[in-house]
Amino acid sequence: MIGIFYGLMSTATALNKYRNFSEWFDKLLLEARILDDRFPVKGFSVYLENGAYILRRVREMLEKELRETGHKEMIFPLVTTEELLGKEAQHIKGFSTEVFVIESAGGKPLDVKLIVRPTSETIMYPMFKLWIRSHADLPLLVHQSNMVYRHETKATRPLLRVREIPWNEAHTVHATAAEAEQQVKKAVEIYRKVLDQLGLAYLVLKRPDFDKFPGARYSIAFDAWNPDGRVNQVATVHNLGKNFSKVFEIEFETRDGKRENPHQLCYGFGYSRVLAALISQHGDDRGLVLPPVVAPLHVVIVPIVFKGQEESIKQFCYGVAERLQKFAVKVDDREDVTPGEKFYYWEKLGVPVRLEIGPREVAENRATLFRRDTLEKQVVAVEEIEKAVETVLTSIGQSLAERSWRIMRQMVVEISSIDEVKKVISERRIAKFDWCGSVECAEQLKAAAGGELRGSRFDELEVPSGPCIVCGKNAAEVVYFARAY
Ligand SMILES: [Zn+2]
Repeated sequence: MIGIFYGLMSTATALNKYRNFSEWFDKLLLEARILDDRFPVKGFSVYLENGAYILRRVREMLEKELRETGHKEMIFPLVTTEELLGKEAQHIKGFSTEVFVIESAGGKPLDVKLIVRPTSETIMYPMFKLWIRSHADLPLLVHQSNMVYRHETKATRPLLRVREIPWNEAHTVHATAAEAEQQVKKAVEIYRKVLDQLGLAYLVLKRPDFDKFPGARYSIAFDAWNPDGRVNQVATVHNLGKNFSKVFEIEFETRDGKRENPHQLCYGFGYSRVLAALISQHGDDRGLVLPPVVAPLHVVIVPIVFKGQEESIKQFCYGVAERLQKFAVKVDDREDVTPGEKFYYWEKLGVPVRLEIGPREVAENRATLFRRDTLEKQVVAVEEIEKAVETVLTSIGQSLAERSWRIMRQMVVEISSIDEVKKVISERRIAKFDWCGSVECAEQLKAAAGGELRGSRFDELEVPSGPCIVCGKNAAEVVYFARAY
């Protein structure tokens, strides 16, 4: 069944992203100038120019959506304390094993140890307590893009499982449970909008109770597919109920003069994991394939020079570049590099469009246009070049999304027995089946098949058609099961 994925690979001799995902991914990160994982502290890496550019573009896209939906950007401190972190019992339980602690400063032990934020609930909420007085102060919608720090004990993986995590976290406060429920839907829509612009394919799942965010009432998560079959959680939305507002003593006066604890949400969007999804869902054996919306360069023009015509061909290329000023365009006129080497280089970097211009193109006032996603070529008249590039860029964005969603659908397999779950997981795919809702059945599956129960669809109602595939009792929901990062 894995053959359907292999059908998409090119015939190049390079590493294959479906067969050798880790090697393919690690090699590409460095060669495509995304990230250098050789920094001498484990779990921390350096974002190179292309990685930093894409990360910034994704951040701008998300922050625009947050701004337009009323979220205020703020900047909160990096540290909290043991006392604050410990206020919510489940929260401390969930994070205590992975926090970094600062114990001394200037060579002397600190009176109060500082905890480097693993997330910012316990940093923001003491301030929310000061700011919120009455119903008129609600809703409060705050966000910030920052780094959070978690001492991952499992093997670290660049972008996917790291100890310094670039993300955006939003925190909202609401007067009623109904408004909080509404906000969950709004947050899901914001994330969906950004991921859709990036052409990524994902499942929006309500996590099982045993896997919710520490301190939350329930958690929604976006699981993006990965070529090795392990899903990549790129974003989460948590309804905290009153769990935090009670312990942080956040109160407001209602319209009829009563004092109440408000309802809260927190939601996070993992920039490095989204970057990983962009690389691994869209990339191929030649390298990155970038959606134009995040590409540092849209068009590269490669002159195919012939002796005696070097200058005229170059001038022609610059004339074409002049017509493409509305895009990020570059003429690669390096003289010590062959056109073939230039093709290879820019394909690796995922530049969506390449224009090849030689004596023949000059004579005919045309350019040969190559699109990175399908590797197809077409000849375009220079007068129509701007329109043609625009059309191709739009088409690349759409076809990457279509391809990604097609693979997502192919990866999910509906099954009805434990043996089938094992098979699906060993084939690096995602299993879908009926489940009774018990932790015991989930654990039995995990032990048998080596994956994790990821939850049920949040955005679509799926009704069980048979009994729980583990215990045979009545099924409560249809769930998805996969290995995960
Ligand atoms: Zn069961």
